[in-house]
Amino acid sequence: MYSVYIAVGSNLKNPLFQVKNAIDVINRTSKIKIDSVSSMFFSSPMGLKDQPDYVNAVIHIITKLSPKILLKTLQSIEIQIGRIRNKIKWSSRIIDLDILFYDKIFIRQSGLIIPHYDVKNRKFFLYPLHEITNNFMFPDGELLKERLDYINNNKICKCKIQKI
Ligand code: ADP
Ligand code: MG
Repeated sequence: MYSVYIAVGSNLKNPLFQVKNAIDVINRTSKIKIDSVSSMFFSSPMGLKDQPDYVNAVIHIITKLSPKILLKTLQSIEIQIGRIRNKIKWSSRIIDLDILFYDKIFIRQSGLIIPHYDVKNRKFFLYPLHEITNNFMFPDGELLKERLDYINNNKICKCKIQKI
């Protein structure tokens, strides 16, 4: 059994509903057990500013699915919910499911990067993660609390986030 953190985000068609619904769908997926769910957070968009605010959350799951199969499973849930892939990076989406961490492993393949390539820079990943963990340590040994101080002192992530 592996410990995995997944980020859930949406900014289309009632994002709060979409995020909660995606978590329900994940909860009903075989070989995945949800252990904890963060609060819901509003965040301002990265990249294209001309799009609605996002709702984000992070969940902790226990699974025996391999990283690749888990990614495939999450992508099929995205499609089931109605995601249409857009070539424009960081554009609006009904649902986005990203694997943040899979135990302490590092994967660098063309279609799968774990830990998520930008996990340390996005407040809408880090704050929900902080909420559902205790003294969380990144696989490279850095403490989440220290990273949050660094992000805030150096204005790394310019997006605003707010707990709902
Ligand atoms: P993004 O989440 O960056 O806005 P997408 O959801 O469209 O973009 O994902 C683009 C690609 O990112 C996917 O096809 C997937 O193969 C790849 N990817 C790489 N690493 C991960 C990860 N850790 N979690 C989810 N997708 C990933
Ligand atoms: Mg994604």
